[in-house]
Amino acid sequence: MPRRATTRGDERTSLDGLSADVLICGASFAGLAVARELQRGASSGDVRVLIVDRYEVGERATSACAAPTPWLEAMGVDGAIRQEIPCMTFTTPHGSARHRLPWSWSSFDYRELCRLLFEQTNARFETAKVEGRTGHTVHTDRGHLTAPLIVDALGWRRVLAADGYQPPDAPLSRGLEVHPDGGGEDLDVWIDRSLVRRGYLWSVPAAGEQRVGAGSYEPRHHVKEATVELAGRLDVEPVRFQGNWFPHRLRRAAEDGVFFVGDSAGHCFALSGEGIRTAFYFGIACGRELDRVLTGAATREQALRAYAAFSASHARAFGLALQAQRLMPALPPRLLTLVLRAMSRQSVVDRSFGWYLDQAHPSFAGEPSGAREPSGAPRPVAAAA
Ligand SMILES: Cc1cc2nc3c(=O)[nH]c(=O)nc-3n(C[C@H](O)[C@H](O)[C@H](O)COP(=O)(O)OP(=O)(O)OC[C@H]3O[C@@H](n4cnc5c(N)ncnc54)[C@H](O)[C@@H]3O)c2cc1C
Repeated sequence: MPRRATTRGDERTSLDGLSADVLICGASFAGLAVARELQRGASSGDVRVLIVDRYEVGERATSACAAPTPWLEAMGVDGAIRQEIPCMTFTTPHGSARHRLPWSWSSFDYRELCRLLFEQTNARFETAKVEGRTGHTVHTDRGHLTAPLIVDALGWRRVLAADGYQPPDAPLSRGLEVHPDGGGEDLDVWIDRSLVRRGYLWSVPAAGEQRVGAGSYEPRHHVKEATVELAGRLDVEPVRFQGNWFPHRLRRAAEDGVFFVGDSAGHCFALSGEGIRTAFYFGIACGRELDRVLTGAATREQALRAYAAFSASHARAFGLALQAQRLMPALPPRLLTLVLRAMSRQSVVDRSFGWYLDQAHPSFAGEPSGAREPSGAPRPVAAAA
């Protein structure tokens, strides 16, 4: 795909002086959702959007890649689905409870999903490592980039913020998983304090692949042993490791003239560690605010304020998830098992998982993509110098 070509080696020329109307730093779920929404906006015809990431689009998966199926459909990326997963099974050392959700999860192929999202944009993409920012200039290992509208979709590090964000002191969880060949039907979750004291373990089937991992809400607790132990118990190979930190507290979504989206704004639910659909959701909201600036309907400051207020208006849901995350490891295991069993009554499952989906509902994505086709070849991004 010509638009996705990544410059390597000798082709890795300087980008110094390049400017754009919108500079999106980070080409994963959040950054690509912003770019996609800009393409759907009223301003799309004339806007120069530049996306940078240290890796090629879709090159490095950042998660177990399971998201609600209705969200994947709403974003026009259901072609990346590997397996639909209608049920979740929760297991503690004292028993199991199986829940048939009112909506299904789907595991997907990260590279393909990113490709499908990028295809819905008309953005220019460049590989560059973002190192920091001075005002409207973003410093990268390939030079300095300027834009009046800047988005930080760089994940938990929040690189473009004034203050640093470092584990283990920051409110971050940590996760590690392996991707062996395997199978399964349900999205399995284990809560077993002998393996992870404050957290959970999972197995996500993905049509021939099994994503088996462990997450700890306490960033000081390592999870490699637990991941390997679970892989052993499931009789799969502990191979193809991938891990990362993920936030469990909402942060300011606009700061010092920059829009923060996805993990960089803490848009990842505590307790579940689910951050893909929220990256889509807030990415769409951010894209819509940027579009208002580009069409002259709002100033940048108004858009920053509106987007920050929109993000903050979800504080209650994120706060409840954080409370549940704190409560869950404190419950006696037998009581927790009883709670999970009580929750498996279908009416309770429907209500609780319905509420959970409502907190970032796929209807927000609006019409499926295709409402406005990207115009094919990328527009050049002007050099400022
Ligand atoms: C092991 C694990 C499993 C998970 N499983 C799930 C799951 O199944 N479902 C779910 O909903 N959530 C899951 N999560 C959470 C989810 O991965 C995140 O919430 C989600 O990836 C956030 O998307 P994002 O676009 O904000 O950030 P990211 O996906 O982290 O993307 C950040 C992008 O920025 C780029 N980048 C970072 N730093 C720089 C830099 N300095 N310069 C240039 N580019 C840079 C990265 O290359 C990347 O492309 C999981 C997390 C972990 C750790």
